[in-house]
Amino acid sequence: MTRPKKRIALLGATGSIGDSALSVVGLFPDRFEVVSMSAGSNVEKLLPALASHRPRVVSVKTAEDAARVRREFPGISVGYGAQGLVDVATHPDADIVLGGIVGSAGLVPAWEAVKLGKTLALANKEILVVAGEALTAAARAAGAAILPVDSEHCALHQALRAGAASEVRRLVLTASGGPFRTRPFETFDAITIEDALRHPTWKMGPKITIDSATMMNKGLEVVEARWLFDVPVDRIGVVIHPQSIVHSMVEYVDGSVLAQMSPNDMRFPILYALCHPERIDVASARPDGAGGGMPRLDLASLGTLTFEPLDASRYPAVPLACAALKTGGSAPAVLNAANEVAVEAFLTGHIPYLGSVETVARVLARHKVRPRGGGSGLKGASQWNFRTSC
Ligand code: NAD
Ligand code: MG
Repeated sequence: MTRPKKRIALLGATGSIGDSALSVVGLFPDRFEVVSMSAGSNVEKLLPALASHRPRVVSVKTAEDAARVRREFPGISVGYGAQGLVDVATHPDADIVLGGIVGSAGLVPAWEAVKLGKTLALANKEILVVAGEALTAAARAAGAAILPVDSEHCALHQALRAGAASEVRRLVLTASGGPFRTRPFETFDAITIEDALRHPTWKMGPKITIDSATMMNKGLEVVEARWLFDVPVDRIGVVIHPQSIVHSMVEYVDGSVLAQMSPNDMRFPILYALCHPERIDVASARPDGAGGGMPRLDLASLGTLTFEPLDASRYPAVPLACAALKTGGSAPAVLNAANEVAVEAFLTGHIPYLGSVETVARVLARHKVRPRGGGSGLKGASQWNFRTSC
């Protein structure tokens, strides 16, 4: 008996996650089909993806770009703007929505999809920082699963299958430490955009690459883990693991620590989320699929895996994000908004590297927190504890 294909709505098809997702679909064409996809402004990159995958619905950023795509592909229904994104995410034929947009722009389409009960495979972590409590509650109410695509959370999702929630002592997120792990701190004010975009282990879009350098990415991931797994922030830790092979760990009360490993290639967590709760044999990948086959992990040739404590004075973004999460209310959303603007300002040469996390801290210190379910009000900037981890 042939199994029906899983039908995917792909948000952010022209990004790094979009590339990896389309590669997975190309490797397993009998298992997956893209029924709808969205892009931002990169129409040049979208057009070949439309030719290969022939979705029924597509969305771009502007009406002008939509007109161009319509001329090239008269058989595809083309929308644009905020409504276009929602039409992609809520396509009636889609079984699963892959959230690969960067930033809070991905919130509304994901929200509309989970309200319809659709499974959300989520890479777009910022939306859980902005609205994690509300989005996970909406998903629960509609019976929609949120499956993590972020590699750390995908690892936790897998390791959590080994025991009961009551048996978990803590979650431990791994972090590569980014390009500046060993760089003398006194030279951080000379860091250029090119330096910060040179990630040692992952090839990703520009915003998450900068977030990984400052480790704001790990701070956002602590918030993401809190909402995905309903674990309080004081039971979430971070450890530096420069090789990015152990993607995260769950420590159980009996002292066992379950770690998940795979090559540092985002196609693995994407494949896991798309197949869940099954596992697919990667050896069955179509040999001529786009992007090459899926590599196997060879620990003997890797030789050494290392771990180090997080130095919070080098990476103040982690305790800052944890403090915003503990404060609650509007604080995490403000942290995320300030960070989106600050990263863009750094990438466009308007502020120095160190200015981006400093900006987020300043914005949070001036923000009067609006509570949602009991936020306790923010402390003044001088009282923010930059020295401790979560
Ligand atoms: P990217 O910049 O490469 O791609 C972003 C995609 O979102 C593009 O298709 C872009 O056109 C689209 N987009 C951006 N702004 C938009 C808007 N306002 N409206 C509609 N579409 C818009 O980013 P990425 O590296 O693929 O990351 C995507 C998300 O996945 C981020 O939240 C990131 O943190 C997360 N993530 C990425 C990786 C990775 O390896 N790249 C790993 C884990 C998590
Ligand atoms: Mg991650």
